[in-house]
Amino acid sequence: MYLRIEQIKEEGLTLEFEEKPEVFPELSEMINQGECNFIAPIKTALRATRIDDMIEVKGEINTFVRLPCGRCLKEYDTALKSRFDLTYTHRIPDAQEDEEQADIEISAAEMGLIYFAGEEINLQDGIQEQVIMAFPVKALCRENCQGLCSSCGNDLNQGDCGCDRLPPDGRFAALKNLKLDT
Ligand SMILES: [Zn+2]
Ligand SMILES: [Zn+2]
Repeated sequence: MYLRIEQIKEEGLTLEFEEKPEVFPELSEMINQGECNFIAPIKTALRATRIDDMIEVKGEINTFVRLPCGRCLKEYDTALKSRFDLTYTHRIPDAQEDEEQADIEISAAEMGLIYFAGEEINLQDGIQEQVIMAFPVKALCRENCQGLCSSCGNDLNQGDCGCDRLPPDGRFAALKNLKLDT
């Protein structure tokens, strides 16, 4: 997952590669915690170009995960896809004090720049972040998943269990009827 600076010629560099999810520490942690399972490698396709002394990396990540549905808890498979645009800039070598270097890095981060040192860029953190951001905010096996019965726990996608469940506005509706009756 390293991008060697010398390989980026004037016309840019196109790269495609895939990695096991386990090589990314935070993804590995998610797997260990049982939050999800990856059912495909993390595929990355990118294009790196030089802009002055900065390296712009544009690309896309793709993978598939198995997740528990937030409503019915059943596991389902979904694609994760994210486009990214990252700009890397060389660490300034003559910053004298650590504090000074830290200040420079903070202002660079505010501008959306990522520092790298040496002759190559490690893309691991950048790719990992994209994968994490690609996760659905609300994991649903399908848009109209009915979820579980609040009373008996039955999967309502399989049919109604016959429990007496109040609709969300049930109590207000009952009050309204009461008023009409009196
Ligand atoms: Zn569901
Ligand atoms: Zn029920």
